Amino acid sequence: MTRAGILDDFPGLPDFPPGEVWLAGAGPGDPRLLTVLALHAISNADDIVYDALVDPRVLQLARAGAELIPAGKRGGRPSPHQRDINEVLIERARAGRRVVRLKGGDPFVFGRGWDEAWALTQAGIRFRIIPGLTAGLAGAALAGIPATSRDTNHAVVLAAGHRAEDGRSAADWEALAKLGQPIVLYMPMTQLAEIAAALEQGGLAADTPAALIQSATTGEERVVDSSLGSLAADAERHGIGSPSIVVIGAIAGLRRQLLSSLVPWR
Ligand code: SAH
Repeated sequence: MTRAGILDDFPGLPDFPPGEVWLAGAGPGDPRLLTVLALHAISNADDIVYDALVDPRVLQLARAGAELIPAGKRGGRPSPHQRDINEVLIERARAGRRVVRLKGGDPFVFGRGWDEAWALTQAGIRFRIIPGLTAGLAGAALAGIPATSRDTNHAVVLAAGHRAEDGRSAADWEALAKLGQPIVLYMPMTQLAEIAAALEQGGLAADTPAALIQSATTGEERVVDSSLGSLAADAERHGIGSPSIVVIGAIAGLRRQLLSSLVPWR
């Protein structure tokens, strides 16, 4: 049934009944970072409703005949409303399709996955959640930046740099700075200078190590070592755009110690 032969014998993979929706994370880009369950979902789906951030190489793993439906939400471009995406999922499931809702990274990390799970619940549609490697942690790890190390931190903050459309989720940057724990910023580019200034205002030193990681695990991947005080200028100088994550804190500086032995990704 699947294209990926090894999955045919993989223990414990669930059947994908018609009328279910599987909310799956596609990871940061490179298909080798898909989970086995995500690959199983993608290779068995009738319909794949996918976000703009899903890597085209991942979509190529769909079975012949699967319908690929773009439903990207991307800052600055016209994008479908969340309720329209929910409607597509519900309609397709009710029509007896095996629906995969595929999102970049992990569906429950800044991905509106919960909203969709709730909409499906209210509509009485059965669904599964298939976690994925989130870009902030996997992209950092591949660049040699650990989420934690014993000598530097015992917590890590994942923060959205970009406010929700209704403005509700603006982080209190000064309070986050006072935690003294590293911060991984998602969607950082539109407000990078303001965020960095607010973190300095909150007490983080301008020379706090930082790293910009663009398009992790894709052919366009770029990593720029920086510091809190120079983040915005470095982003501009190196032409760093979306999608990028920014890591701020001592962990960002650790990667330099590894570079002589770290085998480059790819
Ligand atoms: N659910 C996703 C995050 C969605 S929010 C996850 O868990 O990774 C979108 C943001 O994710 C982007 O603005 C960027 O900050 C980050 N992102 C996603 N893929 C990325 C990649 N390959 N490289 C760098 N950042 C990425």
